[in-house]
Amino acid sequence: MALVNEHFLKLPGNYLFADVARKVAAFKSAHKNASVISLGTGDVTRPLAPAVVEALHKAADEMGREESFRGYGPEQGYQFLREAIIKNDYLPRGIHLDINEVFINDGAKSDTGNIQELIRWDNSIGVTDPIYPVYLDSNSMIGRSGVKDDHDRWSNVVYFPCTAENGFIPAIPDRRVDVVYLCYPNNPTGTVLTKDELRKWVNYALRNDVLIFFDAAYEAYIQHPDIPHSIYEIRGARKCAIEFRSYSKTAGFTGLRCGYTIVPEEVSAATIEGERIYLNPLWFRRQSTKFNGTSYLSQRAAEAIYTPEGKAQVRDTINYYMQNAAMMLERFRTLGYEVYGGENAPYIWMKTPHGAPSWKVFNDLLNRAHVVCTPGSGFGPSGEGYVRFTAFGSHANTEEALKRIERWF
Ligand code: PLP
Repeated sequence: MALVNEHFLKLPGNYLFADVARKVAAFKSAHKNASVISLGTGDVTRPLAPAVVEALHKAADEMGREESFRGYGPEQGYQFLREAIIKNDYLPRGIHLDINEVFINDGAKSDTGNIQELIRWDNSIGVTDPIYPVYLDSNSMIGRSGVKDDHDRWSNVVYFPCTAENGFIPAIPDRRVDVVYLCYPNNPTGTVLTKDELRKWVNYALRNDVLIFFDAAYEAYIQHPDIPHSIYEIRGARKCAIEFRSYSKTAGFTGLRCGYTIVPEEVSAATIEGERIYLNPLWFRRQSTKFNGTSYLSQRAAEAIYTPEGKAQVRDTINYYMQNAAMMLERFRTLGYEVYGGENAPYIWMKTPHGAPSWKVFNDLLNRAHVVCTPGSGFGPSGEGYVRFTAFGSHANTEEALKRIERWF
């Protein structure tokens, strides 16, 4: 008899966005004429940049010719893309990476979920709360998070609350945690950490031998020049941090799939006997065993965003979304709502009117204004009493959604 991994049974029945999608689908089937506008899931809507499309065509043609056809690629990614990443994303910020520290993937979800395979099942983990659900769900699948209590808190997880009360700045824990997940710019709150705040985390990690998993999937949305784009802008981070990046929100690759993970050669963890083990070769071993590489087409497409035209086109699209964010912030504030984020990230985090539960506001907005948001409580206990809006819609839809919300509120 095969025994099931019972840790899966402790997970919430559905992944958050599947839950939202199910409710929206039910609403649409009951209200066939309603035109529903989604400012809910964080999927992009603008088409790929012309430079990316051109690179895709070219790569497809290469694949169709015998002399330039490519089969399995290197598991770690093609050299042309890894070099472009180092040259364009890191060197201009004074960060020097070796090519072996860059691992191309099929998007950050896979690696932010898989990275926990490198650490023992009984490590303690800490997360900012609210948080992108993948980190906790993936740890829970192997039993590292413990069990969920009545307040939706996992027993073996240390939560660092981020709320309006503390300006969404997580406090450095007063107890030992083995692994900390940080996501900045943050999904879902849209808030950022200054260099000084991030430095506190790196120093905490170095002092206490903590590993940081740093998710920078939204770094391209940072507008303010002083906000760090990479954790490696902080001295010492190469020893304690692994960083994740994605082309999904940077360049509209949610359907195309490509991202990357940086595992510095210095970053290590200990065996139970105290021997230090470097994680870079372990991650290479893991990837070459379980991953057969990102498609050649996706990697050529990603490379194209580093050309002068590609950079300008991608910047235009990000500006387009950030105009939505500015419009939402301005309108919500005029209406008297407490809203956060949206200045260095494509997410607006709203305190619910009169402290209403997140799912109630989600349901009301859907039923009365036909607008979809994401209930904050789905991102963790401290997300209760908030909802998230994304800036990834078209200008017209965002404008229309705001008009409806104004009428409804
Ligand atoms: N990390 C964060 C914080 C995200 O919000 C997302 C997607 O929404 C991802 C990672 C995963 O992105 P992808 O797998 O498309 O690269």
